Parts: sequence; structure tokens; C-alpha cells
Amino acid sequence: MEYKDLPEEIRGLMDHHGHLCFGVLLGYRACKYATDIIGISENMKVITEKGGCGNDAVSYLLNCTIENGRLVVREGKGQSWSFFNYDEDEGISLKINPVIMSQLPKDKEQAERYIMELPGNLLFMAQPFFEA
Ligand SMILES: [Zn+2]
Repeated sequence: MEYKDLPEEIRGLMDHHGHLCFGVLLGYRACKYATDIIGISENMKVITEKGGCGNDAVSYLLNCTIENGRLVVREGKGQSWSFFNYDEDEGISLKINPVIMSQLPKDKEQAERYIMELPGNLLFMAQPFFEA
């Protein structure tokens, strides 16, 4: 995707991450979709499995980092993001929809655009998440 086509927030995220890639965009979409549903606060925790580059989106957008203890990175079998908002006492766990991933365009730029434009409820499969 062209730099100029990107929302302001993503330009900042790109600068933070160092490059634009599929992983960081996926992390961005996961954060946005989750916080649309459970809200955003200063009191959140995120657990990712195979978050990869997307972990930088979590730290940039939600201020959840490994250093401040609010981002937990696990190896896991598949890629997932679990968000918990303590202020709202609500959590959500997201996995990428495998059907969508199987339909991903081969071209890098098209794939990035596809990820950015697809509605969150098609891109992700969501489940309630409870953090002890
Ligand atoms: Zn990256």
C-alpha cells in the first residue's frame, strides 16, 4: 500500500515498527476490532500467540508491552490475540478466519489492502475471553 493511502495512525505505527508488513497490519486490525467491541482503556492486557510483527501494533496502539507486563507473548499453535479490558471487565479473543486466509491475494500489496478493507467480523473469529 502507498504511504499516502494509509490512515495517520498507521503511519505512526510504521515508523514505530520500522516497515509496513502484513503482520503489523493484521495486528492493527486485531487491536481495532477488539477495542471496537470491548472498548479501550489504560488498563488492558493482551496475550498473543505467534503475534510476530503484530505485537508492535499492540504496544503502539494500546501501550501494552512486554516491559510493562501488559503484553504476554506465547508460542501456541496458531496465531491469536486475546484482549482484556479491566476497566470494562470485558475480554475478547480473536483468531484469523482460515477461509479468508485461504483467499488471500498472492500479491503483497493486494494482500495488505485486502486485510485493511475487510470487515473485522469476516477477518476474525471472535470469542469471549476471561482473564483471571
Ligand atoms: Zn513487520
